[in-house]
Amino acid sequence: MNEAVIYQGGLKLTIVRGVRIVAASCCGKQYALPRYPSMNFMAFEYWTDGWRVGSLMPNDSGLRVCICGKFILLRDLVEMRFADESDLPRPEKIPAERLPECIEQAGDVEMEVAARVAYWRELNHAYREVYRAHRDQEEITLKSAWTADRRKERSWWKNFVHWPLPEYVRYGNVRITYPPFEPNEQQMANMEALASLLKQKQKLEPSQYRKSLGELYRELGRFDEATEQIDGLPKDEWGVTSLLMKRLISDRERAPVRYRM
Ligand SMILES: [Zn+2]
Repeated sequence: MNEAVIYQGGLKLTIVRGVRIVAASCCGKQYALPRYPSMNFMAFEYWTDGWRVGSLMPNDSGLRVCICGKFILLRDLVEMRFADESDLPRPEKIPAERLPECIEQAGDVEMEVAARVAYWRELNHAYREVYRAHRDQEEITLKSAWTADRRKERSWWKNFVHWPLPEYVRYGNVRITYPPFEPNEQQMANMEALASLLKQKQKLEPSQYRKSLGELYRELGRFDEATEQIDGLPKDEWGVTSLLMKRLISDRERAPVRYRM
């Protein structure tokens, strides 16, 4: 069988073996999807709203548009067979500007949730840009303060001859700051609607959707509900993300935040 092992920084990440042939239930159109027998969710950037950058694994809510024009979900595609390779196309992703239309036309809860999750992350992209610029600027300021401190503490002649400084290390006691997050009406409305859909689903599966709901409530500024969601996480789901969310909630911070694993 065809096998592709992807390496990134010397690490074996994702093994793709052959393709899955699937069919859309709307019109029977067949597509080929890569198989991922070995999952690796590593990414360069993780965001609290679930967005990942530089991830080799699919990182979306599974929303696609069929060749017949219908919106479809990857999970609803019918498995046909496995193959070494195939000339069949992959189902296309929905362009961001069509997400409102997809929300409007969503025939069921699953489709609406997928579309609203995609729209939530999409609408947060503008903030991500502001955030990255803010954090870069903060790092420049910190670095120049650090450089000035190093110059102050060493002998005058080392400064006089421009003796090289040691390698810069960020001060450990400096708290990261975030630019203000002010979601607009469209963002608020989408997050409110998504939160109530997930809350509805949670009634049937109480341990599910806690991270998503915790994050939505936090971004909406509904901190008590956010706390309740995160505190209710099963023990085995506690990790980097939930601890960070817990801290952000206690700081009354609403911003989507970037972090590393
Ligand atoms: Zn179709």
